[in-house]
Amino acid sequence: MKCPFCGAAESRVIDTREVGDGIRRRRECQSCSQRFTTYERVARVNLLVIKRDGRREPFDREKLFRGILTACTKRPIPSERIEEMVAGIEAGLYRLGKAEVPSRVIGEMVMDRLRELDGVAYVRFASVYRSFADLQTLKREVDEMIEATPQEKGSRTTR
Ligand SMILES: [Zn+2]
Repeated sequence: MKCPFCGAAESRVIDTREVGDGIRRRRECQSCSQRFTTYERVARVNLLVIKRDGRREPFDREKLFRGILTACTKRPIPSERIEEMVAGIEAGLYRLGKAEVPSRVIGEMVMDRLRELDGVAYVRFASVYRSFADLQTLKREVDEMIEATPQEKGSRTTR
């Protein structure tokens, strides 16, 4: 299992837990000591992602991780949280029990979680992910987020 942070192949399992129809493991990279979570389905099917142009490609966990990581650049979000998010999305996708999942579904899963986690990261991800036609919706959501100031919500962000 390759480390998502440095790409090293060796990792140590520090926790194993059964979740749903699979096994969740916490791992620590032997090389950079970052911790990450992996989800292993007992009988793994090859999950295909249906892209917007109709092409199929195998679900790529690393690509998902990097997409979220990019949106979270310079935000006060521990990389562990991103790893947990990816593991949660991956588990959710396999729980759907389908061989093919539209990329839209994955995008929505990411946005649902980012919206909870960090407004800025959410907007970044959504602006890349969403089509131009959705920009009005996005703007409305941003406006709503600005109205709901961090002070009202608690101390989630520091500026
Ligand atoms: Zn590493």
